[in-house]
Amino acid sequence: MTSSAQETATSHQRNGRYLRAETTEDFRENLASVRARIDAACQRSGRDPATVRLLPVSKTFDESSLRLAYAAGCRQFGENKVQEAHGKCLAMADKKDLNWSVIGHLQTNKARLVASFATEFQALDSLRLAKELDRRLQLEGRSLDVFVQINTSNEASKYGLRPEEAQVFLQTLPAYTALRVRGLMTLAVFSSEAERVRQCFIRLRVLRDRLREIAPAGVCLDGLSMGMSGDFEIAIEEGATVVRVGQAIFGARSVSDSHYWPSTPHADSSSA
Ligand SMILES: *Cc1c(COP(=O)(O)O)cnc(C)c1O
Repeated sequence: MTSSAQETATSHQRNGRYLRAETTEDFRENLASVRARIDAACQRSGRDPATVRLLPVSKTFDESSLRLAYAAGCRQFGENKVQEAHGKCLAMADKKDLNWSVIGHLQTNKARLVASFATEFQALDSLRLAKELDRRLQLEGRSLDVFVQINTSNEASKYGLRPEEAQVFLQTLPAYTALRVRGLMTLAVFSSEAERVRQCFIRLRVLRDRLREIAPAGVCLDGLSMGMSGDFEIAIEEGATVVRVGQAIFGARSVSDSHYWPSTPHADSSSA
């Protein structure tokens, strides 16, 4: 029996082994299976599945894959790198109801590009970036949903603010009226030890609960973006409202994650 929330395991070892989705039907099946896992995790933790948004992460997959995913019902894609996201956005401009979420670290000099097309940005982690995004958005007459990224694993290799920096940072955000703050985002430690992963998610929720009490007007901290293919069920048990899932929907990536993250120390050893 694994009905107790405490026993939910990570499935990082499956990463790299998910079959490549090649037809609309493959995408339908993968989406249905991820949703079933989301529903089960909600059930275990007494949550309403409608409170968890599934964000399909399409990084490294090409336009033809994204079109299949679209045909299977996806209307929003998460991309780690802004140029890659923008290229796909242009290529799929015929799909007017498609939204783009940038979920990876952004250099300030690329704020203009994000401001031009994204509807959501999940990796806000500096004042300079907030300021530049707001300036560019104001010029474009656009606004952007943002999540503030927090480093909950205390790994130097992960981006995000340290938890103790978050409060002061949040106080500055009401000045940037084109940014609609939606919550906090994190990447857990990449580990097969479920308990260490869970601790990262708990840290984000506890921080959110504390900050929500003192958040300035207009700063909404209801959202918790946490969990990916290998650990989204644990994240849901700890309160995730957005899970960012790539490989369990699209299939294994052929590009190493170190291309997207500064370093993922355990990724290679666990999938070798
Ligand atoms: C790639 C990525 C994900 C999804 O990872 P999968 O293992 O494909 O589910 C989630 N969050 C971020 C920030 C990513 O870059």
